[in-house]
Amino acid sequence: MDTYDYIIVGAGIGGIVLAKKIKEQGLTYVMLEASDHLGGRINSTSVDDAWFELGAARVLSSQHRVMNLIHELNLELEEQLLTDAAVYMEGIWHDSLNELLSNIEYPDPLELFHALLDKTGIVNLSDFERLAPLEWDRVLTLDWLEAEGIPTAFSIRYFLGDIDVTMNQITLYESMYFFVSNLSALDSKVYRMQGGLSQLVNTLSHHMKPPLYKQHVEQVSYTTDGVIVKTSNQTYQSRKVVFTCSLNALSHVELPTEAKDSLTNFLAVGHYGKSIKGIITFNSNVFPSHEYLITEDPLRMLRRSEFHWELYLPSLEKSWDRDEIMKRLHVYFGVDSVRDFKLHTYNMAPFYGCYWNYKSGYFHRIFEFSKAQRLAERVYSVGEHFSLNPNWIEGTLESVDQFILNDSK
Ligand SMILES: Cc1cc2nc3c(=O)[nH]c(=O)nc-3n(C[C@H](O)[C@H](O)[C@H](O)COP(=O)(O)OP(=O)(O)OC[C@H]3O[C@@H](n4cnc5c(N)ncnc54)[C@H](O)[C@@H]3O)c2cc1C
Repeated sequence: MDTYDYIIVGAGIGGIVLAKKIKEQGLTYVMLEASDHLGGRINSTSVDDAWFELGAARVLSSQHRVMNLIHELNLELEEQLLTDAAVYMEGIWHDSLNELLSNIEYPDPLELFHALLDKTGIVNLSDFERLAPLEWDRVLTLDWLEAEGIPTAFSIRYFLGDIDVTMNQITLYESMYFFVSNLSALDSKVYRMQGGLSQLVNTLSHHMKPPLYKQHVEQVSYTTDGVIVKTSNQTYQSRKVVFTCSLNALSHVELPTEAKDSLTNFLAVGHYGKSIKGIITFNSNVFPSHEYLITEDPLRMLRRSEFHWELYLPSLEKSWDRDEIMKRLHVYFGVDSVRDFKLHTYNMAPFYGCYWNYKSGYFHRIFEFSKAQRLAERVYSVGEHFSLNPNWIEGTLESVDQFILNDSK
């Protein structure tokens, strides 16, 4: 049996970039991928000359790693302007998100944040990470937010967290964490890649040994100086194994006890676990003057051509079914408007997104674990879950960089 320096599990952007870096160091690897395609949660497609993202879509100008990678590969970006987004709220379409926000009188998010810091006695933003979570939960409450004059629902979603995530889905603590980690991104531009993000993985793949497909890793065990990795139909041997899949996917793999123990208390919740992406084809040109639509559910749609829109329905816990989505589309656009409706879900492992477990008592582990990558001797996990940018490609690249840095020491 061939022995490699590394077995890389997963051929998403994490596995591919890791392979490139390992190769640059003159080391050997084999990459094992459960599915029959490259890219994992990066998944672009096209219909009638329009391209769509059925997985990751946006890149922010503040995300240096991913921006550098795109420039290095000479790929083109186009800015996604959100200023003219039409918003559907409480039965009414508002012509622009900006107009809606200016009518609602929101506090400045930075002022709000500083008010919160005052209340906790935190002076530096960097101290935010050290704030005892229980303290945080005591201070950051819905009552406090309301006392500060913050309209609930849409505003909290808009200012305190990822715009996609409602308060039912995510705790205030997490929302605030998102907010802080995104502070630096407030001024950043939002881009999409012309032709789709899959070009990123396809271009990179020209410089690497192709993955072995349909190799679903099921078990890892030790030899005297390495590891044996078993898939459903093959056995491989290497010095080290690096998992680049989500923790949800990893939790299904039989690992040495020490590695399994490292993952205890870090049960990732699929932040995007039940998200849906899709393509809607309309019979007529709905909203001719708009490029972007947001509804209160929240559902977001981006125009890709005259009749085609890309749909995104983020969800932490709700499983949307087709009929339910269709009913909503009829409410927004009228019956008979939708000609065709294709859906793509990420609700099954191995395509889970990752997010921190927020079961009480485990909060304090968030930042400790964000630094962990070595699960046990010779067994590693790399991915956005071990970064300060969870749910972003940038986070995956950050974690890969960290791994290379630690492993070469
Ligand atoms: C709906 C959605 C929208 C998103 N939007 C954005 C966005 O706009 N911008 C952004 O930057 N990020 C976005 N993300 C996040 C982004 O897609 C991820 O951060 C990134 O693609 C993760 O890459 P990865 O290589 O770490 O993991 P993955 O892409 O998940 O790759 C892991 C690979 O491992 C394989 N695998 C899993 N288990 C096994 C096993 N046991 N054996 C072998 N192979 C296995 C999987 O098949 C997969 O190919 C989004 C994600 C989703 C789901």
